[in-house]
Amino acid sequence: MTTPLIAGNWKMNGMLRSLTELKGIADAVKDGRTEGCEIVICPPATMLSASRGILHNVAKVGGQDCHSEAKGAHTGDIAAEMLKDVGASFVIVGHSERRADHAESDEIVKAKVNAAWRAGLVPILCIGETQGERDEGKTLDRLGEQLAGCVPSGARGDRLVVAYEPIWAIGTGRTPSSGEVAEAHAFIRKTLTDRFGRETGEAIRLLYGGSVNPGNALELLHIDNVDGALVGGASLKAADFIAICEHA
Ligand code: PGA
Repeated sequence: MTTPLIAGNWKMNGMLRSLTELKGIADAVKDGRTEGCEIVICPPATMLSASRGILHNVAKVGGQDCHSEAKGAHTGDIAAEMLKDVGASFVIVGHSERRADHAESDEIVKAKVNAAWRAGLVPILCIGETQGERDEGKTLDRLGEQLAGCVPSGARGDRLVVAYEPIWAIGTGRTPSSGEVAEAHAFIRKTLTDRFGRETGEAIRLLYGGSVNPGNALELLHIDNVDGALVGGASLKAADFIAICEHA
């Protein structure tokens, strides 16, 4: 059975004083409250080292993005190797906010997945449709396109996580129905098994993301083919995040 993964995406939130929240998460894990679930927190890069210090042996840390190259003249960017160097195990790639704010194409995202693999990180690849695409009945087409465009050959179950994040559900308090989540996740699973074979396709963990909170986590996390969650706003407070993990 797949171990559920609950990932916290802090986005551009968090100062060193927010490390108290991580201490809260560490204490809850040590108390056994999140047993059976794997946890990764993706704080801003400025907090990675300190976060790793607090979560060491308790939970993993990850980056929120990486450059596709290992080093060089890219002011302000961070290489996957650098994330690994400060103790990251995961990196989010292709988040819709990156795609929108930094014009990241599927091709760029694919290069970032390769960069993560090269550095020994597990990429959490985000895909998802806009409200307009859903309204036009194009959700599955869009997901298929993004999977074809962003997942390089050579995927393995232990080195890829895919997060289905409907863009209209991110930070809005709105979520798809259970049936809609089940349909999207079944489609992603089938696309991956068709391409990489049954064993690999079934081992790749599929997270749901978009307005996950302690109140809806139980329902969302028990939908077929949902192997965990990518949590934004509700990951900023230890109590909320742990409450979500307890439902996994
Ligand atoms: P949200 O964000 O939980 O605040 O909706 C999720 C995400 O963007 O990963």
